Amino acid sequence: MKYIKIASPGSNAFLWLLTAVVGSAFWGCGSPLGKPGAGGIAISFDDHFIKEWYELRPLFQKYNAKATFFITCPDSLQAEEVAMLKQLEKEGHEIGFHGTVHAKSTELMAAGGPKGYIEAELEPGLRHMHAAGFKPVSYAHPGGNHNERVDSVLLAQGFTTLRDVAISRRKFKGFQLYAWPARWMNAIYYAFDGAQKVDALMIDYDEVTEEEIAEAIKEAKENGTALMVFGHEPLYSAPQNGKYGFNVSFLAAVLREAHAQQLKFYTMSELPKVK
Ligand SMILES: [Zn+2]
Repeated sequence: MKYIKIASPGSNAFLWLLTAVVGSAFWGCGSPLGKPGAGGIAISFDDHFIKEWYELRPLFQKYNAKATFFITCPDSLQAEEVAMLKQLEKEGHEIGFHGTVHAKSTELMAAGGPKGYIEAELEPGLRHMHAAGFKPVSYAHPGGNHNERVDSVLLAQGFTTLRDVAISRRKFKGFQLYAWPARWMNAIYYAFDGAQKVDALMIDYDEVTEEEIAEAIKEAKENGTALMVFGHEPLYSAPQNGKYGFNVSFLAAVLREAHAQQLKFYTMSELPKVK
């Protein structure tokens, strides 16, 4: 996961130092240059809200949009859900994998090495996915938790795109610590350089404003990059009981703006393949 880590409240000097260090590596003004004419957007969704995602189809169809759905806990897939995912795939969307048990991969790796990690988090879920007729090649890190070792195992297992999480806002005890415009986050723009490890901006409730996302879309269009965003459960009102989700009207605004700017819609596995 990418965000500025806050050491402790009140340590302003340390915060500024971190801001400067992280800022130079990850943030920074001006997003990367991509490929003229390839400007686009890659939208993905995580976890297991299959029926809820399926209900978004009219919205996707309205803008001729396609997305990537990262499935976790595939052992609990009902026949009805498999049929829905098949239909989504048929309509141009991609079905990716988001772990068997949605655990912290770095902890599984530390405890059991590559073998333990594969046996706990990858193989069982992939068996269910394969049995249901899906061959996922994109992977979203559960909780944005991973390291180099985890990445190398996933690439060796045949995944071609590994998606991490980028967050634009951080709050501490209700105070806004920072909120930087999405257009300044270099990592969320795919530069069509063949990269297999990518970051997507979280668009769950209260993370990003419609103005910020419109600017980010414009930035991708102008620079020939692909803006990468992701969310969890589609919500029709403010989240209750600690739910993770995005406002469906916000997604509609993203799709409307992307369509208006004539952005291409990419699935996650398509990104490294664009030449
Ligand atoms: Zn997740």
